[in-house]
Amino acid sequence: MPESNLYEDKLPGLLQQTGSERLSDEQQRFLSGQAQLFRFTQQELKQLCDMAVDLAMWNAGTMEQVWPLVPNEGLGPKQRRQRLLQAVRTHWQTLREQPTRYPEIPVSSSYSAERIQRVNVEKDHLGLGWCPVASTRTRCCNLMTLDAVENCGFDCSYCSIQSFYHGDEVRFDSRFTEKLARLEIDPDRFYHIGTGQSSDSLMWGNQAGILDALLNFAAQHPNVILELKTKSKNINHLLKHEVPPNVLCTWSLNTPTLIANEEHLTASLDERLRAARRLADKGIVVGFHFHPMIHYDHWREDYGELFQRLTGEFDAHEVALVSLGTLTYIKPVIKQLRARPGFQSRVLQMPMVEADGKLSYPDEIKQEMFSFAYHTLESWHDEVFFYLCMENPRFWQPVFGFDYPSNEAFETAMKEHYLAKISARRSD
Ligand code: SF4
Repeated sequence: MPESNLYEDKLPGLLQQTGSERLSDEQQRFLSGQAQLFRFTQQELKQLCDMAVDLAMWNAGTMEQVWPLVPNEGLGPKQRRQRLLQAVRTHWQTLREQPTRYPEIPVSSSYSAERIQRVNVEKDHLGLGWCPVASTRTRCCNLMTLDAVENCGFDCSYCSIQSFYHGDEVRFDSRFTEKLARLEIDPDRFYHIGTGQSSDSLMWGNQAGILDALLNFAAQHPNVILELKTKSKNINHLLKHEVPPNVLCTWSLNTPTLIANEEHLTASLDERLRAARRLADKGIVVGFHFHPMIHYDHWREDYGELFQRLTGEFDAHEVALVSLGTLTYIKPVIKQLRARPGFQSRVLQMPMVEADGKLSYPDEIKQEMFSFAYHTLESWHDEVFFYLCMENPRFWQPVFGFDYPSNEAFETAMKEHYLAKISARRSD
């Protein structure tokens, strides 16, 4: 059987193995046709499929629309194939390196909270452990994380929770309250425990009694700094109930453009700031996370406006922390993003380099964004604890003008600052 027929016979299997089912039927037909012409290898087909998925995700046209014309004369079939692949890669890379542009009106997508199935499970162990994204290669605060709920009802494009949990099932542990009440805490040690890594801390309110359990836990253990991290506006339960002073409520914030385009189903910026304002008025210590900061054409103006608004609406003594971080990926999350049918997002449209075992922006972009943020929030430097989350120590000195000699020193400084803020608020 001639070689050409062999390739034709193999091609459907090759296309399947390289994930072409992620593309529209039309794109699959186009790619199959070109593959018959150029005899792409499996690896080349995989790259072409991934790039075609990215272009669709970025609303940057189809592979057919960007397909380069490769001259016939003077080039052997292998050279023609390589020239073509190089041209496609260059186009894709150029889109990644230019500042991302978000549409004025976000592309409407079928995000609905209805997809969430809430299930009650009985877990053997309490989900208490070390921060799942901490690394020995980054300057880390040794946060302990408590999984009150598994999986999230929001849909932020860049979120790594997707790679931990599967599907739309959100799990409530029916024995959570009992196990948390039985948790042994060393009274001679200070703890910093956060909820908000396995799900949003406030979006579920007091479903399954989770907030009551957390507030009782904090009341029992004043040496525990309990951080409820959220993108929600759902603060009713906290407004109606006594909140111990060692509970911090912290919001992840982003610009309106990014919230509208990449943080689906979450509360708007106005709703988040209003919720934080109401809890601060109730004497609860608040804080703000800018993680991920995302580099796009209007990032400086939009983040600048956000920082100005923040210092205008909150007084430094009400705020315990500001953390900064940016888009950082592990490969499973990128694979998961590219596998979502019809998914619209630009969080992969970025110059991506290997960074401390993960994939992220080049150093200069990170340093520029972090430095801009820190300088714009200058009025808070003396009273608010600033830190970089999940970043290499090499950024601290250039951004903050200081660094910690170790993660332990960072952890101690953070806890001391939060405890001082809590006791100051207690005496207010
Ligand atoms: S700095 Fe960030 S990644 Fe590191 S332990 Fe703390 S919260 Fe986790």
